[in-house]
Amino acid sequence: MAERAGTRTCVIALDVGGTSMKGALLDRAMRPLTTRRGATPRHQGPEATVDAITRLLRDLASEAVRIGVAPVTAGVVVPGIVDEPAQRAVHSVNLGWRDLPLAAVLTNATGLPVRIGHDVRAGGLAESRLGAARGFDDALFVAIGTGISAALVIEGRPLRAGGYAGELGHLTVAAGAGRCACGRSGCLEAVASARAIAAAYTARSGHEVEGAEEVAALVARADPMACRVWERAVEALAEAFAACATVLAPEVIVVGGGLSRAGGLLLAPLRVALDRRLSCQRRPELVRAALGAQAGCFGAGLLGWEAADALPAAGAPADPVSDRVSHRVADRVGGRL
Ligand SMILES: [Zn+2]
Repeated sequence: MAERAGTRTCVIALDVGGTSMKGALLDRAMRPLTTRRGATPRHQGPEATVDAITRLLRDLASEAVRIGVAPVTAGVVVPGIVDEPAQRAVHSVNLGWRDLPLAAVLTNATGLPVRIGHDVRAGGLAESRLGAARGFDDALFVAIGTGISAALVIEGRPLRAGGYAGELGHLTVAAGAGRCACGRSGCLEAVASARAIAAAYTARSGHEVEGAEEVAALVARADPMACRVWERAVEALAEAFAACATVLAPEVIVVGGGLSRAGGLLLAPLRVALDRRLSCQRRPELVRAALGAQAGCFGAGLLGWEAADALPAAGAPADPVSDRVSHRVADRVGGRL
């Protein structure tokens, strides 16, 4: 989209999570101009959530005007099954909506062109363009938090498959035993998510922990029970990653989400366990995500700028943001959201 001379522009980026929303105004170089946070009122139903998204978008649009920047589009990423070509939020267990034409609803409510996307796929795109997978054509991004979800970038393009690609958390693994949120047993997510790790430690030790971070701290102190729970999770993740390496052959596997904060405590044994399972496959590098909890919001911003570039421009040829951004932002995405 052609920018009018003298007018600074930005996009609104919004990452809608199960409990909170992270918003930002991002300029062409993906620098955050301002940030906003909000609660996701998911217990009040999908309409309340859509209203809260609308309010936060309007608030950010007003803030853009206040600081003298024109918002051109908004990128909004959400969890669940998202049909990006149709711009519909097909299903989200967490947020309770079904087959919602979310982009159209938000465009009508805000007056801004809104492009929606899937939170983890957008995070994977951001890691691929701006973060730890930059420079790789084939990358697997795995977010390990309350659940486990993955995003694939193959030959430089996100793999969507109707919104169903990347449900790595529901791969059946040998160590899988407990009941998964999807209703089945044996899923990776029921063994290796941050929630599952905390729950397994609590169940085995009788000592209640707040979360996986506490278990990681116990592993660092060589607590035998914590080490057993951790090792089981690592082996299950390695099994799933080996399956991905065999079928999809990513050059790099980027580990993100809350559990990635464990750093080497997770990645070092995971590299060994993965290596042990590979023979003739291409061996992926295993690295920690660079954008952390900001990946989804940066991904939403990338979608926003792609939408901006797709808008009819007066006489100016489209100039894909992807190339410009990856050149300019490169090592500068230090800008914290
Ligand atoms: Zn499952």
